[in-house]
Amino acid sequence: MPRAKLVADVNDDGVCDGQDDLDKNYLPLIVAVNEDTQELTVKKVGLPASYGATLKLKKTGSGTGKVVVKDGNTIILDENISESSDIFSKAENDDLILTLEGASIGGCTLELVLSINNTTIASDQIMVKVVRSDVVFRRGNDGLATLIGETFTHGGIDWEIEIVDVGDFGIQQGSLSDFEAEASNSSLKARVRLKKESYMSRRIWAKVFDNMQSENYARPTGAKPWNLFTTYDNYETSNCNEFVHEQFRKAVSDVYSEIISLSQSSLFAFIYSDPYNGKLVPGKHKVTFDSRIPGASMAVVAARTLLYVRAKKEGAVLTEIENHFEGQIIPYFLAPGGRYAAGIQCSHPQCPKYPELPLRLFILATDWEEAHITTTTPECFLGSTFFETITY
Ligand SMILES: [Zn+2]
Repeated sequence: MPRAKLVADVNDDGVCDGQDDLDKNYLPLIVAVNEDTQELTVKKVGLPASYGATLKLKKTGSGTGKVVVKDGNTIILDENISESSDIFSKAENDDLILTLEGASIGGCTLELVLSINNTTIASDQIMVKVVRSDVVFRRGNDGLATLIGETFTHGGIDWEIEIVDVGDFGIQQGSLSDFEAEASNSSLKARVRLKKESYMSRRIWAKVFDNMQSENYARPTGAKPWNLFTTYDNYETSNCNEFVHEQFRKAVSDVYSEIISLSQSSLFAFIYSDPYNGKLVPGKHKVTFDSRIPGASMAVVAARTLLYVRAKKEGAVLTEIENHFEGQIIPYFLAPGGRYAAGIQCSHPQCPKYPELPLRLFILATDWEEAHITTTTPECFLGSTFFETITY
């Protein structure tokens, strides 16, 4: 009587092992993709080193040059290389965890190829994509740069295929060269990126990319959403920089909702929640339009009118733009010794409060006012905790 054969014992040697897989042309490896971290896990199943197999990782497709595969800090498959050296021994004892990296946009197909005894077996193909979602800044307007005391004024998202930013027409798409063409000084430009080392950063880059590609934007909620003088603390109205910030906040929120593992979800929430009351970058408190009364409020109105006229000239949808000052106009007395309180103090916790005017100085005091606002500007991103400046 022939003995009963185990179902998977294809080569009929009484042992279910990798040789059975080989005889059936199955890859005796399990390749798993961690949906949360985007890592590949390679598990070897019952194929001893003595079989003399080689295992290589292969890239195919037009984006082959863009994707880098690493084992820890060791590069397994570098840019512009389509096939790795043998990694069989790396998967010999423990699971091999491979991470996908790359700084330039491009997709390719990855597969593991096992060769043994002139037999070649390939794993299922895995589509991988590296995307870039940078923030670019330009100096758009010298007057505005002086007003806010910063080098740059205007920001947009460079998702490689095009730039998304907020202009006089609201949300717009265009080329990088078009974006740069509107600079007042073309040598003043900057590029920042959500830090590469930040937890699941590439997944957030990819989410920003996908949202930009599908025009799935986080839009301000107000009826007239676009306002240069918007405050930082709500998203009813927005300027160009707050819009950029909100696209990254949306991507973080979207990724969070897709994380499957509870521990990874908890870590993600710990890292990204509430560094600045739920924002990724802090707001900047600006004191502008410092002038003798009637001053600041007049200047704000003048700036608003100027912007309104400019928007109208360029044919913008005026119903969606309202440049009104959302900050506080703070009056003060100027007298020997400096500035003194004139009734209203700025509500920002870090803003210095002016002392009471001493009675002896009353006759010398003159009425002044200044405009205070906490808003989102390019400097909020430059040097922030979550973003790093990279080569333009
Ligand atoms: Zn203030």
